[in-house]
Amino acid sequence: MNLILFGPPGAGKGTQSALLVERLKMRQISTGDLFREAMNKQTALGKRAKEFVDAGKLVPDEIVIGMVDEVLEKLNGQSFILDGFPRTVPQAEALAALLLRRSLSIGRVVFLEVPRVELLSRLSGRRVCTKCGAVYHVESKPAKIQGVCDVCGGEVVQRKDDRESVIRIRLEEYDQSTAPVKDFYKKAGRSVEIDGTGDTEAVFSRIRSQGV
Ligand code: AMP
Repeated sequence: MNLILFGPPGAGKGTQSALLVERLKMRQISTGDLFREAMNKQTALGKRAKEFVDAGKLVPDEIVIGMVDEVLEKLNGQSFILDGFPRTVPQAEALAALLLRRSLSIGRVVFLEVPRVELLSRLSGRRVCTKCGAVYHVESKPAKIQGVCDVCGGEVVQRKDDRESVIRIRLEEYDQSTAPVKDFYKKAGRSVEIDGTGDTEAVFSRIRSQGV
């Protein structure tokens, strides 16, 4: 079954996707990760996306849709999780067309619900490994040695867009452009709301209990 994991920045989409990849062998399609990778490699796509990503703004729809189209093309039948896409109603409409063209469908749209105050504390305390992408939190999940990844020894840093001034812009973008996508999928059916607070494993069980 293919999934959309939907929720504001900091809701846990990346964390839950990683579990789905590890345990259900699904393929994660994270548009945020794809942009960061392209930015690190300084590809043409990365150069176009950088000014938006660093500022906490959404990358223009046509760039994101083109990128997802290319990934879907190379899937080879593997079940996938869309993490961080679609983020606007035009993206959701474009996705429907991309899927139809390939005879693919989405089995569940999972909305991860987390109160705003918790999102702020999750995002401002979040640290990530620049090498393997492992996620830490300064209070709830610090790296054993500060600045060093427990998993791969890579450097653990704060994402540029996890600085407080940029977090505010990202949450505004969510409210303005992304929240309406929720209604788009509610009307279409097959969407479920999941409590995204508490232990990672508990959230994962809630997702699994929806037939995922
Ligand atoms: P994320 O890692 O999902 O929080 O995404 C990081 C940043 O990448 C976002 O703040 C946007 O600048 C950009 N981005 C990721 N996914 C999308 C999308 N579907 N549409 C537009 N911009 C996106």
